[in-house]
Amino acid sequence: MADTETQETTVLTDGFHLLIDALKLNDIDTMYGVPGIPITDFGRMAQGAGMRVLSFRHEQNAGYAAAIAGYLTKKPGICLTVSAPGFLNGLTALAHATTNCFPMILISGSSEREIVDLQQGDYEEMDQLAIAKPLCKAAYRVLHAEDIGIGIARAIRAAVSGRPGGVYLDLPAKLFGQTMDAESGAKSLVKVIDPAPRQIPAPESVARALEVLKSAKRPLVILGKGAAYAQADDDIRAFVEKSGIPYLPMSMAKGLLPDTHPQSAGPARSLVLKESDVVMLIGARMNWLLSHGKGKSWGDKPKKFIQIDIEPREMDSNVEIAAPLVGDIGSCVSALLESMGDNWAPPPADWTGMISEKVETNVARMAPRLQNNNIPMDYHGALGALRTIIKERPEAILVNEGANTLDFARSIIDMYQPRKRLDVGTWGVMGVGMGTAIAAAVETGKPVLAVEGDSAFGFSGMEIETICRYNLPVCVVVFNNGGIYRGTDVNTSGGPDVATTVFVKDARYDKMMEAFGGVGVYATTPDELSRAVNAAMESGQPTLVNAVIDENAGTESGRIGNLNPQSVVSKK
Ligand code: ADP
Ligand code: MG
Repeated sequence: MADTETQETTVLTDGFHLLIDALKLNDIDTMYGVPGIPITDFGRMAQGAGMRVLSFRHEQNAGYAAAIAGYLTKKPGICLTVSAPGFLNGLTALAHATTNCFPMILISGSSEREIVDLQQGDYEEMDQLAIAKPLCKAAYRVLHAEDIGIGIARAIRAAVSGRPGGVYLDLPAKLFGQTMDAESGAKSLVKVIDPAPRQIPAPESVARALEVLKSAKRPLVILGKGAAYAQADDDIRAFVEKSGIPYLPMSMAKGLLPDTHPQSAGPARSLVLKESDVVMLIGARMNWLLSHGKGKSWGDKPKKFIQIDIEPREMDSNVEIAAPLVGDIGSCVSALLESMGDNWAPPPADWTGMISEKVETNVARMAPRLQNNNIPMDYHGALGALRTIIKERPEAILVNEGANTLDFARSIIDMYQPRKRLDVGTWGVMGVGMGTAIAAAVETGKPVLAVEGDSAFGFSGMEIETICRYNLPVCVVVFNNGGIYRGTDVNTSGGPDVATTVFVKDARYDKMMEAFGGVGVYATTPDELSRAVNAAMESGQPTLVNAVIDENAGTESGRIGNLNPQSVVSKK
């Protein structure tokens, strides 16, 4: 053909493609969600474009997966939901992520703006942006395809910079189909440069912190999950070891240094909280989990506090902080290490000696209980078996929720590596288990052991279908004592209903797993439990072990029964 005239053709792109391109450009390769209107095609197309899109049975569990993915990777975990009800289901997880300082983005489709704002009764009508705002760190809505790049960039930066948290991104149905020319579309995308910039502490704050630390006779370091999140593992360990100061790990900071480390004061928790004179918090808040820094558990000796946190407003939130050190933990700890010099005097031997003695006594007292072979099993016998498994497989990830199952497992199961213990977090949420286990397996590829109270498991139990569907190396152990706290409560009215805290007797959770093609095991002894869990960890096959626990074992609300109001008037 002689005619070489170029024909003007505009190549188009649309909201679907721009969203996928924007996420991929920012190295986001995994999403957790539940398909439905208006995001079904978006999920399909993202999967088609090579993203990992994991479909759940309930948005809340997908949200918990996204939240913990953020914690494990320092990239925002993405949860994808439909409008109104799906959005609301995901919102609990978004609030949970924000409360725990985990970076997460909840992306929800929404109904037609014009109809929602005039309240004309659209399909799943809801002003989602307004509802999300108070429950997260930031909330954005994108109305035009050309703003998708900026919208995603803002969401990512808001989630991971400073104190990490949850971000809501509202995407009205119409946006997905909006078209624009592909070249301008590509240009509109934003690659977020240095999404969580280092925050270097002021030199005078570093000097002040070291002055206070030097003055201590009975110093204590408390490591929180912020320290684990920071992935400054080597420097944190170097700092603790160079200082010689005993440390206490908060629940999810267990394993940041191995629980068997000679400086671990874990088993002497009550003693060190009471007796310490200078306490340095690293990525841990002085919230209810530390009794707000006051009261009986802290004793009556005067104390000074040093706090490392990225969020300046965290300082003095509960007690006066004598030496606030604001910055990212990696930068703060390396600044401390540098300024400590080579002649840092270790804490007085009477202090460290007193702690070691207490640790030894407590560990020795616990040891025989962990080897008991009682039938039905009690918490100690069953957890003693699991403790050995984690000791032999320190790379495995332990997910843990429940009341007694949580409290006992936290103190009994030693952790050896950072970010291997994932649990209920700051709120103490029941129901995080399966979402957390799924994301842990997906993000790390490591075997996951989920130790679940029977009640806690119930909140997300249907997700074992998800575990089987994706053939994930997750072994769920349900501590089945037939109820919440215990299985023995009675209805004091004498009426036909069982007590409010009681479940079906002798329930067979193992059969649920079998229903989806996984391995179900019924275990009544620590040996059977051990064998089943080891086999699961070895094979990587989805497994659920129904561990029969004495229905009398367990106490009301586990270790936080004191938070439970009780009537003094009408006790029957
Ligand atoms: P825990 O429950 O283990 O005590 P918290 O969730 O109470 O831990 O505290 C975590 C703290 O860590 C939060 O105050 C948060 O601002 C802080 N944090 C999170 N990431 C970082 C980081 N990279 N650098 C400094 N502080 C951080
Ligand atoms: Mg129970």
